[in-house]
Amino acid sequence: MKTILDGFLKTCPTSVKYEKYEDIDFVKVYNNKPGNKTGENCDICKNKGIVYYYDDNKNIACRECSCMLSRRKKARSVRRINSSGLKDTIRLKTFDNFVVKGQHQKDMIELARRFLNSDMSHWLYYGGQVGAGKTHICTAVVGELLLNRGKEVRYLQWREDVPRLKAKVNDDDYQELIGEYKTAEVLYIDDLFKTDTDRGSKITAGDINIAFEILNWRYQNKGLITILSSQLTVREIVIVDEAVGSRIFERSQGYMMTIQKDIRKNYRLNGMF
Ligand SMILES: [Zn+2]
Repeated sequence: MKTILDGFLKTCPTSVKYEKYEDIDFVKVYNNKPGNKTGENCDICKNKGIVYYYDDNKNIACRECSCMLSRRKKARSVRRINSSGLKDTIRLKTFDNFVVKGQHQKDMIELARRFLNSDMSHWLYYGGQVGAGKTHICTAVVGELLLNRGKEVRYLQWREDVPRLKAKVNDDDYQELIGEYKTAEVLYIDDLFKTDTDRGSKITAGDINIAFEILNWRYQNKGLITILSSQLTVREIVIVDEAVGSRIFERSQGYMMTIQKDIRKNYRLNGMF
C-alpha cells in the first residue's frame, strides 16, 4: 500500500511537502493533481472535473466539480453548432455586423428583434430582393437561438439540400432524413424554392411536395420555431402552390417582411449604382 501511494505521490506535482507519511493530507494532494478536461481552466478541480473532500467519518470522498455544468453546456453548444449545418457562418453573420444603411435594413433588424422577444409561435419570413441581407439576418436570429438560448437548430439550404432529399425519396431512410427537418426544434429554410435558373431549372412537383411535407408538419405541430427566407414573396409562393403559401401566410402574420425588388438593395453590387 505504502509503495503504491509513494508512487502516486511522485506523480503529483504538489507544493505541499510532508515529513511523515501519516501527515499526508491526501485530499489536498488529490485536489492538486492536474486533470485533462478541456474548454476552460478551473482552479478548484485543476481540470479533473472532481473535487475530493473528507466525509463525516474522515474517509476520502469526491463529488463533481461545479465547473462541469458549464463544460457540459459548452460541449452541447459545440455539438449543436456542428449538427446545425451552419458551422461555417454562424459566427460570421451576427446582429453586430449586420450593416444598416437603408430603411429596409432597419426594418429587417427590428423585425428580427421583435421575433426574438416574442413567444416565437409565429413563423419569421423574409422575402424579396436578392442580396438584401435576408440570409444574414436569419443566420443572426438562428445564432441567438443556438448560442444563447440553447436551442437545437437544423438548416435547410434549399438549392443544396433539396436535390439531395429528392434523390432519396424512394430510399428506406428518406423518412428519417426529412424527419430531421420536420421535427427540428428550430428550422431555418434558406432560399425556399430557389432553383438553378441559370440552367433553366423550374420549381417542380417534387420541390412542392418536400416544402409541403416539412411545413405542413410544422404547421400542425405548434411549438416548433420556423424561420424562412426566399426570393419569392409570400404572394408569389401562393401562386406556386396555394397549400404551402397559405400556411406560410397564416403562420407568419405580423412577422413577415417583403423587401421590395430594387437592385440598389443588393449589397453584392454596392458601388455600381
Ligand atoms: Zn472544476
